[in-house]
Amino acid sequence: MGNSDDLAKYSRQVLFAGIGEAGQRRLVAARVAIVGCGALGSAQANALVRAGVGHLRIVDRDFVEESNLQRQMLFDEADAREALPKAVAAEQKLKSINSSVEVRGVVADLTPENAEELLEETELMLDGTDNFETRHLINDLAVKTGRPWIYGAVVGSYGVAMAVVPGRTACLSCLLEDRREAGVEETCDTVGVISPAVNWVAAFQVSQALQLLVGSWTLETARLVRADLWRNEFHSSPAPLPRAGCRTCARREFVHLAGEARPQITLCGRNSVQIHERGRRLDLDGLRQRLAAHGEVRNNPYLLRLRLPEHELTLFADGRAIIRGTTDPALARTIYARFVGS
Ligand SMILES: [Zn+2]
Repeated sequence: MGNSDDLAKYSRQVLFAGIGEAGQRRLVAARVAIVGCGALGSAQANALVRAGVGHLRIVDRDFVEESNLQRQMLFDEADAREALPKAVAAEQKLKSINSSVEVRGVVADLTPENAEELLEETELMLDGTDNFETRHLINDLAVKTGRPWIYGAVVGSYGVAMAVVPGRTACLSCLLEDRREAGVEETCDTVGVISPAVNWVAAFQVSQALQLLVGSWTLETARLVRADLWRNEFHSSPAPLPRAGCRTCARREFVHLAGEARPQITLCGRNSVQIHERGRRLDLDGLRQRLAAHGEVRNNPYLLRLRLPEHELTLFADGRAIIRGTTDPALARTIYARFVGS
């Protein structure tokens, strides 16, 4: 640790009684992961990097599109034009915001196979995902290893968030078994989303992250919060306690981490299907030459995109494909087999 001059740029946080110099030093030493760098993840990453959280890992499987820019504050038109992976675009932008923070963007889909490795050596995880499959994976890992994570979800103008602290609060399985959270059935792809709702949820998540990192989070003040930023309704209730008999945090059965609940083909919204061929890396250069005969091919160092008359095929080096223009897994599989191989 250096002297207090290192902290000069964080002077407004050091002045803040809840953080102070000791808290700021903890933030500078902290290791945090953000899973999913869409709207929520962008807002979280932006705030944490500016706050001086020393080491930030960002895991995201997607690439930037023009329709993201309305709410995903780290990205711009150039990122969308180049179809940069969000993890890469975020890393670049965040390094220009605060060069003292170590930021690492990882282009990957969080899966049962890679979750432990991708999230190792992080003391806290933030939920920037848009699906419960990945949240359950984070929850399993968090409970298994006794690390906190911060749940957050947004649909339309509605948002919900809570810090999940294993052994202290309910976990995600406890929460969802009690009752279905509003917003679970709908997605941003069917009812849209507005940025005030995103930023409200992300702001709460970041406040929980800072409290946990500096050691001032308490169960007494922990809350499950919900809001509707269009109806102007705000609710806060004490964070639920662990539920007796919960499969995850009481019985310690980590079914999501064990991979039992995970399909290889997933609908990933916006009229798209993702196919994840595990253990099959793709030779993007070879594919680019071969696929050029079939349609317009664009590529960057991370992905390759083939435009077909009715579909768009985006291939990642880690073996994933996103087929846009359908929600039919069988058709997506056919397109994948035809252009990549079965
Ligand atoms: Zn539980």
